[in-house]
Amino acid sequence: MAGELVAGVDLGGTKILTVLADRAGQVLARVKVSTHARRGQDYVIDTIVESVHETMRMSGAPAGKISAVGVGAPGPLDPDRGLVFFAPNLGWKNVPLGTIMSERLKLPVYLDNDANLAALGEHVYGAGRDADHMIYITVSTGVGGGLIMDGRVYHGAGGGAGEIGHVTVAPDGPVCNCGNAGCLEAVSSGTAIALRARALVDDGRGAGILAAAGGDAEQVSARSVSVAAVAGDAEAVVILRDAGRYLGIAVAGVINLLNPSAVVLGGGCIQSTAALWDAMLTEVHRRTLESSLAAVRVVRGSLGGDAGALGAVALALERT
Ligand SMILES: [Zn+2]
Repeated sequence: MAGELVAGVDLGGTKILTVLADRAGQVLARVKVSTHARRGQDYVIDTIVESVHETMRMSGAPAGKISAVGVGAPGPLDPDRGLVFFAPNLGWKNVPLGTIMSERLKLPVYLDNDANLAALGEHVYGAGRDADHMIYITVSTGVGGGLIMDGRVYHGAGGGAGEIGHVTVAPDGPVCNCGNAGCLEAVSSGTAIALRARALVDDGRGAGILAAAGGDAEQVSARSVSVAAVAGDAEAVVILRDAGRYLGIAVAGVINLLNPSAVVLGGGCIQSTAALWDAMLTEVHRRTLESSLAAVRVVRGSLGGDAGALGAVALALERT
């Protein structure tokens, strides 16, 4: 007899968020703990398993009530085999996470990439509801994405679809973590914003940004840039506008390519300030074909940091 509840896990490099939900996606319990990736793979997997048990204890639900677990993990990974190929934030290579968790929990465990599940979460429970063709983009430390096509996560030929962070938007731009130059992630991520602000401060400029960082050049971050921008600092606004402009170029490109009904954006850099968002929208309006622009709404995500875990819930419910 299938249980009535599922658990959704969002495994990140610093935090693990686990929720227990019913078939309607209503969250009954929620546990957030530190990943402590440096303590190794066994420790991290123990922590996830314990988090699932903890949500069950908190809800008072008997063990038989839970029917499956969905897990969002940093990719690249193979969702069918439950195998995490490579996760630099965790120090993992070829970890059969799905199999190990399934044996430990005695439950079916379904795995997908964290950005894909954040996309699914916003599609099923958030700002992308009723949008069967939806693009999700997260702009925080890095830039990630997920595609919902015909109401389902689109994985591509080898599971690599949705990597909008590595679309080139500035051919002669800064070098990206992937080795290419001018990727969206290298010009619009929180990391890219912080690097540009630090360079400015090192150059003896950026007084407003430095002040927002408490006067300590070492503490200059994307957050200090948004704080300075909100206070009206012109240099901070320029940095965020440039980041937003490149983001808009990428968003317009995917709208022209896929004709989605919604583009949902999440992540810390999207929530923090209007300068980046407004510049992105201006560029989207400038570069998107009229017919596709008329069909799409470009909106902020509504689930915040819960999008991935709720997407994992949706994945588990979809499979059971
Ligand atoms: Zn790249």
